[in-house]
Amino acid sequence: MADYILVDTVDKARDTIHALQSRQQLSVDCEGVSLGRTGELCLLQIAIPQRVYLFDIFVLREKVFDIGLREILERESCVKLFYDCREDCSALKHQYNVEVKGIEDIQLLALLNMKLSGKRWQFVSGLQKCMSYHLGDCGFSGAEKARVHTALDNDKGLWRQRPISQDLLRYAAKDVMYLPNLKDKILSRISVAPRSSVLDTIRYASKRYADFMINNEGPEDSPYIGTARLPERIIPNMVRRGGVISYTPFEDTSVKCRSCFWYTGTTRSDGQCNRCYDLYVEKLRAAR
Ligand SMILES: [Zn+2]
Repeated sequence: MADYILVDTVDKARDTIHALQSRQQLSVDCEGVSLGRTGELCLLQIAIPQRVYLFDIFVLREKVFDIGLREILERESCVKLFYDCREDCSALKHQYNVEVKGIEDIQLLALLNMKLSGKRWQFVSGLQKCMSYHLGDCGFSGAEKARVHTALDNDKGLWRQRPISQDLLRYAAKDVMYLPNLKDKILSRISVAPRSSVLDTIRYASKRYADFMINNEGPEDSPYIGTARLPERIIPNMVRRGGVISYTPFEDTSVKCRSCFWYTGTTRSDGQCNRCYDLYVEKLRAAR
């Protein structure tokens, strides 16, 4: 596996940020305790080929963003690969005032691939399942996974403990290091040309995906957040116009769903978007 390096002093952070400056593409992930708008961001992983940097945010705090990390994360021309960017971007925005730009969310790329192949595409899946499907290997051994999951189950505050165990550091590193392979593999399965139109679509969808959680001021315990069903109006349709394939942006709307608080294109009489209505019906059926 790639080297992973813990960045836990300001000096190390300065050198690392310098090394990341010229990169065109980074893979990014965050770990924390109840990570999101509130909760605590503890670790920020950034991978380049053959190397993963683990920024210890619990120790470094604002300082690491102020000395250059914020600028890199906010630079549109530097691509950031995420796998489900929602809570990570919400934590970065609300806790450290970082607006991540240039996001390509591979979770959405996997769904776009399904959509373009005419398969059911409205349900998101986790990173390991997606890796198993596309790369034939989830990157984690069964025993290793079980050990880390048991440790995290037993202690919800584990990402806050110092020193962080090698097991956890390796686990965190693996969450980001395969994202470029995964992106290339899924792209190779998409026949739509040119590839730039697929990536334009993913960048547009990824921004909406991040905004879904950043702007979401609904109750944290809303049953309509954290479901495997993709929010409405995230992945746009791709259509061919004059021989060129491109996406159709969603029409702006000021109507918000009363359950998930996301802008909805549907004005249902019950005030919910179609997705939340479906979830509501599923819940009723399950309760019967
Ligand atoms: Zn909704």
